[in-house]
Amino acid sequence: MMKMKQLVVLAALLCVCDGVTFGQLCSGNVGNSKRTTDSWGSGSYGASRGNRLHQGLDIVCNDGSVVYAPLDVTLDRKVIVYNNPAKAAIDQGIQLSSGNLCFKLFYVRPDRTTGTVRKGERLGVMLPMQSVYPGITSHVHVQMCDKSDPTPYF
Ligand code: ZN
Repeated sequence: MMKMKQLVVLAALLCVCDGVTFGQLCSGNVGNSKRTTDSWGSGSYGASRGNRLHQGLDIVCNDGSVVYAPLDVTLDRKVIVYNNPAKAAIDQGIQLSSGNLCFKLFYVRPDRTTGTVRKGERLGVMLPMQSVYPGITSHVHVQMCDKSDPTPYF
């Protein structure tokens, strides 16, 4: 039999380990599969992008798919990803917050940019990434506002 004090400590540890997990982000990708490596690079956090590092994590999402809120979220603002006319077709995203978490989804055309959306409900639509990066594994880029690693949430 564990003593009460040990149980309390164990419960506290479980709460730390049992962190926030993002729900399904994209229709057609039930398990939030990550982009691995394609001809354009790797979707992992910290992957090389020439002279810089990839600051987010890429979740597979076919062009035109519906994008869902992965948590109960507040819509903070619209995001401009590149501000580059050559990439206008995919140059949108949304910044979201949920509790203490703040994160951005790139390459998504949001339905709205204010208010709240419940986990699993529609946020918007995946933009036509193939038109800008032919042959890439189309994906939503998930980036934490503090640039920390989003991988533990998946
Ligand atoms: Zn990315």
